Amino acid sequence: MNRLRMAVIGVGHLGQHHARILAGLPDVDLVGVVDANIDQAKLVAGRLDTRPYTTHEPLLHAVDAVSIVTPTVHHHAVASAFLKVGVPVLVEKPICPTLAEADELIALAAKAGVPLQVGHIERFNPAFEELIRRPIRPKFVEAERHGPFTGRSVDIGAVLDLMIHDIDLLLALDGTAVKSVEAVGATAFGGHEDMVNARLIFESGCIAHVTASRITQRPKRRLRIWAPEGYAGIDFVTRKLVLVQQSPEVRQYGLRADKMDAAARARLKDEVFGRHLQVRYVDGDRKGDQLTAELRHFIDCVRTGRTPRVTGEDGREAVAVAERILASVRCHEWEGRPDGAVGPNRMPRPAGWLFEVPKAEAA
Ligand code: NAD
Repeated sequence: MNRLRMAVIGVGHLGQHHARILAGLPDVDLVGVVDANIDQAKLVAGRLDTRPYTTHEPLLHAVDAVSIVTPTVHHHAVASAFLKVGVPVLVEKPICPTLAEADELIALAAKAGVPLQVGHIERFNPAFEELIRRPIRPKFVEAERHGPFTGRSVDIGAVLDLMIHDIDLLLALDGTAVKSVEAVGATAFGGHEDMVNARLIFESGCIAHVTASRITQRPKRRLRIWAPEGYAGIDFVTRKLVLVQQSPEVRQYGLRADKMDAAARARLKDEVFGRHLQVRYVDGDRKGDQLTAELRHFIDCVRTGRTPRVTGEDGREAVAVAERILASVRCHEWEGRPDGAVGPNRMPRPAGWLFEVPKAEAA
């Protein structure tokens, strides 16, 4: 099999891992890495025995496929340059900061007839893969994605940086359009929003409460789903899935705790999980690394012409919902009136201090 000539554009925090994995694949020839910061390009290229570049132009006609891991604001410029010369593109999430840019990339990929994949990596999380192949119709969902402040991705806010993962997962799980959006969000220091909560109602009737924060001390990434089929909970950090369903007897006859005597009700406490509600734990952590799975899938699509699991259109739909969330965040009236504080940047003035800080600690 011919080795696929590939390059990674943007080898910062995440891109260096794209490059490391690609350099280790037997059917890939990593012909170069690009970073606007020459020191970073040289550092990563030196480690992986490939060539460093500070701009993607020299590689436009030297690769069979490319992985783009620059800050989001540069996705469109870099991806469109490769698509225009017919090179398949894997672009990190979010596809682009605006719908107009996303539409252009989709049109360019269609014109060239090449795959355009978006890096919504949680679709390759083994726990999510386990879940989505089951017949579940979500009716109420809670998604939480909290992380510490990293100082990266400051070109966008918490919605396009973090919440976009859960928006994409919800769209993939539910399969219907979002009917209505209500959201509130705030910034900790000024600039883009750092924490957001959104309530989404889908045409299916499913309601999702989605929270994202990039200034939380303890990381948390989880999804909890209630459905007619049962309950599913995913921890994306540990890659574990828990599934709960009613036993066949409970499904058929129900369980009337209010009609039981006290002794039977007391027993119920110990028997409810296991006997009446059946539980399965699925440990996805033993499966391989999901970035490798995502890259391998992209390569497979390039070689076979298969449609990627996460298409440009999927990436665009996630941005479309994100834009609606951001619009709602922007016009939230904190005091219930339009002439008061409105949106993520203009918060009501603090009423006071929550606690006193001793002078020595404050210094
Ligand atoms: P980063 O700032 O650590 O790295 C970006 C690198 O790109 C930097 O080294 C920068 O010098 C370089 N760069 C900037 N402009 C460039 C250009 N025009 N050409 C070449 N190089 C350029 O950022 P990061 O955290 O690695 O994020 C990069 C992208 O990956 C973002 O789109 C982000 O949203 C995405 N991301 C996705 C996930 C995920 O879970 N899928 C996680 C983190 C980041």
